[in-house]
Amino acid sequence: MSKGFGMSDGTLDCLIVGAGPVGLTLACQLQQFGTSYRIIDQLESPVIQTKAAAVWSRTSEFLAQMGLFEQFKETGLACYGASFFADGKRVAQLNLDSIDSLYNYVLMIPQHTTEKILRDYLAEHDGGVEYGLQLQAVEQSQDQVSVTLESGETIVSRWLVGCDGAHSSVRQALDLPFDGKKLKSQWIVADVQIEGLPLGDEILLFMHEEGPTGLFPLGDNHFRMVAETDDVMDTNNLGRAEFEVERLLKARISGDDLQIHDICRAGYFSIDERQVSQYKLGRVFLAGDSAHVHSPLGGQGMNTGMQDVNNLGWKLAMVAQGKMRESLLDTYHEERHPVGEWLVETTSKGTEMLTNRRPIMATFRKQAARFLSSLPPVQNKIRNTLSELDINYRDQTLAQEPKFIGKGWRFQKGIKSGERAPDGSVLVSGEENRLSTYIRGCYFHLLLFDSGESRAWSEMSDIAASIREDFADTVRIHFIGAKRVGPEIAKEHYLYDHKEELHNIYAATEPSAYLVRPDGYVTYRCQPIDQVELLNYIGDWCTS
Ligand SMILES: Cc1cc2nc3c(=O)[nH]c(=O)nc-3n(C[C@H](O)[C@H](O)[C@H](O)COP(=O)(O)OP(=O)(O)OC[C@H]3O[C@@H](n4cnc5c(N)ncnc54)[C@H](O)[C@@H]3O)c2cc1C
Repeated sequence: MSKGFGMSDGTLDCLIVGAGPVGLTLACQLQQFGTSYRIIDQLESPVIQTKAAAVWSRTSEFLAQMGLFEQFKETGLACYGASFFADGKRVAQLNLDSIDSLYNYVLMIPQHTTEKILRDYLAEHDGGVEYGLQLQAVEQSQDQVSVTLESGETIVSRWLVGCDGAHSSVRQALDLPFDGKKLKSQWIVADVQIEGLPLGDEILLFMHEEGPTGLFPLGDNHFRMVAETDDVMDTNNLGRAEFEVERLLKARISGDDLQIHDICRAGYFSIDERQVSQYKLGRVFLAGDSAHVHSPLGGQGMNTGMQDVNNLGWKLAMVAQGKMRESLLDTYHEERHPVGEWLVETTSKGTEMLTNRRPIMATFRKQAARFLSSLPPVQNKIRNTLSELDINYRDQTLAQEPKFIGKGWRFQKGIKSGERAPDGSVLVSGEENRLSTYIRGCYFHLLLFDSGESRAWSEMSDIAASIREDFADTVRIHFIGAKRVGPEIAKEHYLYDHKEELHNIYAATEPSAYLVRPDGYVTYRCQPIDQVELLNYIGDWCTS
């Protein structure tokens, strides 16, 4: 008996293969968007693996958009900084609390807890993972995909998403190469309780001639340790791994009071740097580790995989529901492949820089860390990169701007199409809230900014009427005004920008329109508002 969701007419929209964090996130989204799915995994039941611990700001924003962030916050540990040590001294520090997000920290939470929260959500909503089902073969035609399981069962769906990890069977079935290389270095990971560290609530990175050691706090002096180690012949020897964890910690972290207890789930791993050349082939998609793998040092793999499906989920849902044209699905590869490519490249450079054992590199590393941490713009760049806030889809097909892009220079320099739509405070019926709480669900959100002049409202009212007539199921309208009370036409859709924060961020010095995609990125903007171009843009992608 299949679990899944919403297959009353017998047609399955999406089969998700793999119930790691990426597949589970996609399942939660499709559940919320009312798109039928099944999610299968070859495991007999969930397992605890010592893998991701860091949930970065952009992922927290996405989880909040899905209404799931509170569960994460309750269990996770908010961590507001990272420190770098060499020769027993702190050589650099990175403050995370100036990340430009409501979630201005990295949330430390073990991957298996992340997965449990997502699984629990599915179970509460009549969905759930079907365990013990292993994909073996994939065939596709023009309008469907047929998957054969190891048991011989066949599952037919309109689309298939392979979230089945680095050794993806889906990728292999499509015969897509996973180009890249395996690094020669050997790594060790463990959960360990340590007392006597210089700081207990920051990410700690210790640079050492034998290789780097990262400690990621999980609360109550518990840390996830990830470290480069020397070649180990028998990587399955757990006793040896525990011994090695203790040895490395003692050798690389100075401190007479250091006490190490409770080493668990210690294990060795190696790093591959690879990416698939196509994220979509016909009706089959790849997301997460099945599409890209790299060094875990920046804690980006799971976060990037979850953002892959943040990009894909709404596209699948809207095409499945007939609200948008099928060509929309091609933009998944176009938008996400460059993100993965950049990630593999930068983590590769970062890992090489941290692991290069030439003596001159040790000196260079210390100097570079001191230098970088003393420059605020560089710190800002590092924060925005790690938190994934500066990922954007500018210059891609979906990101459009009119040829004449506003009179004001501020608008030209403001939030561009393809960039993340920033959040801000609003007053609604006298209560303070966030813009992001209104930008939810599988809808485009049209933000119409006035500039304090009432003549703008009648123009906006015409636009709103046209959109409501043709695209009521696809586009939600929000009037953002600088006055306490909006005009009659805005009624319940009026958000009072009481601090003028949003007008400022969105450079709305004149009436302006921003169209925001369901995944929270601006896809079109104009100032002054050009009704014809705006409607043409929506009409190009949406079916009325
Ligand atoms: C030591 C370490 C630390 C890390 N730290 C971080 C971090 O802090 N932050 C971060 O973002 N990332 C981190 N990562 C990376 C992160 O763990 C991965 O990117 C993440 O697990 C990828 O998730 P996924 O869902 O794509 O794949 P997986 O988690 O690998 O899940 C794939 C699932 O597919 C199933 N499957 C496979 N084949 C089949 C088949 N044929 N049929 C059915 N099911 C199948 C598997 O059983 C599995 O459950 C770390 C990784 C390591 C090793």
